[in-house]
Amino acid sequence: MTLLTVQNVGKSFGGVRANHDISFALKSGELLALIGPNGAGKSTLFNIINGQTNADTGSVRFEGTELSGLQPRQIWRLGVGRTFQVAFPFGSMTAIENVQVALMSRDRKIFNFWRWGRNYCRDEALGLLQRVALTDQAEKPCNYMAYGDVKRLELAVALANKPRLLLMDEPTAGMAPQERNELMALTKRLVLEDGLSVLFTEHSMDVVFAYSDRIVVLARGELIAEGSPAEVRANAKVQEVYFGTGNTFETEGQAS
Ligand code: ADP
Ligand code: MG
Repeated sequence: MTLLTVQNVGKSFGGVRANHDISFALKSGELLALIGPNGAGKSTLFNIINGQTNADTGSVRFEGTELSGLQPRQIWRLGVGRTFQVAFPFGSMTAIENVQVALMSRDRKIFNFWRWGRNYCRDEALGLLQRVALTDQAEKPCNYMAYGDVKRLELAVALANKPRLLLMDEPTAGMAPQERNELMALTKRLVLEDGLSVLFTEHSMDVVFAYSDRIVVLARGELIAEGSPAEVRANAKVQEVYFGTGNTFETEGQAS
């Protein structure tokens, strides 16, 4: 079943054509990677999908609902979650408190621990922490957690609203290879367990080829290729965009 349909999306900033006539679809249960060199238009497209930016042209539909014109919060309520590339917002709070705040937000409660108490949906919060293997760090302030653990916590927070589509903009940025693999293996497991779909951007080609079901490639604002990892790896246009002269994607970290 098609979950997300991006159709003829275009967006310019002054004279810069950040997205031009982009169309693709994402199926239920799919881990779809959006790749392309810096400035290709990946973040712009992400921001259009999650409502932070309005497209100039085209349409984005999630489960048949048109997202254009909706606020990020409305899109989140429909079941589109996202993780952030930036540092965690509530660093002085513990891991479990961060998940509890996400659950309060889902339940439309005002963020107020004094009023709602520290036991708010505690079991559910612990269950989410367990899914990302953070049970033993539940009471640790996020400021003291390792970076890889914070990224897993972000996943737990994103899952609190039971999204059907998760948007991840460079989820493994700043991580060591081992941590990257752990995070993506976990993401893949969640996708399989929950029937979740994920659209993610990623710099590491190792991660992209190891974990994505399908890949969409952007270059200078246009979609230049789409297909399985094997198809994209063999695509001459993609190779040209990344390396100029028909090199392959063998080496970690070449594509940035
Ligand atoms: P990517 O995420 O693939 O690196 P972006 O979507 O961030 O690419 O950027 C695509 C192009 O649009 C770039 O040339 C960038 O400079 C431009 N761009 C993106 N956002 C803005 C903005 N808010 N104002 C002006 N230009 C922008
Ligand atoms: Mg970007």
